[in-house]
Amino acid sequence: MKSANLVIALTKGRILEETLPLFAAADIVPAEDISKSRKLLFDTNLENVKLMLMRGSDVPTYVEFGSADMGVAGKDLILEHGCEGFYEPLDLRIAKCQLMTAAPVDAQAGSDTLKVATKFTNIAKRYFAEQGKQVELIKLNGALELAPSLGLADSIVDIVDTGKTLKANGLEPNDLIADISSRVIVNKASMKIKNAIIREILSKLSAAVKANS
Ligand code: AMP
Repeated sequence: MKSANLVIALTKGRILEETLPLFAAADIVPAEDISKSRKLLFDTNLENVKLMLMRGSDVPTYVEFGSADMGVAGKDLILEHGCEGFYEPLDLRIAKCQLMTAAPVDAQAGSDTLKVATKFTNIAKRYFAEQGKQVELIKLNGALELAPSLGLADSIVDIVDTGKTLKANGLEPNDLIADISSRVIVNKASMKIKNAIIREILSKLSAAVKANS
């Protein structure tokens, strides 16, 4: 892996813990302990490969505009951003969860326009339009599960893993909107200009994913 410099944007937090072992198996290892540092840009064992750390919701933007050549982000954030601005060549099959609608356990279907709280307003807008359902979307960035009991919304659209968070707040999952996992995305121009190194990394990551599953 020589020549062109390559910047890879990684998602901080729980996804990072599952991403780093896959990257290590693909021979890309940060030069220092990423989880203990406050830095955002890291050298790796490969002279021409750098890692950037950021919120998952920013990864698609950095990759679309080419500030990062590649990135790792949850499918939920990719769908919310819109998938047209980059390629999505690999499913890392980590951080798996589901994007679902959820409502209070005893909820009755009413005839009024449903009020739906979510941080995924673009996904929810598309989903309910496809279902032919008219909804009023309420954008929240956290504590979604409280919205129905406080009368702010009838239901929510959120990430569900074990379902414990919903249950603890008197909610139950209803409809599946999308199966979520972390994906590798690649800037379209980088895919052409830095094709050799990107293909090499994708092929090693793909082997690591297969070995992992
Ligand atoms: P659970 O109680 O296990 O269903 O977890 C649900 C909460 O954990 C949600 O509110 C999400 O914010 C968060 N969560 C679980 N899995 C993921 C994931 N893979 N990516 C992002 N957030 C997640």
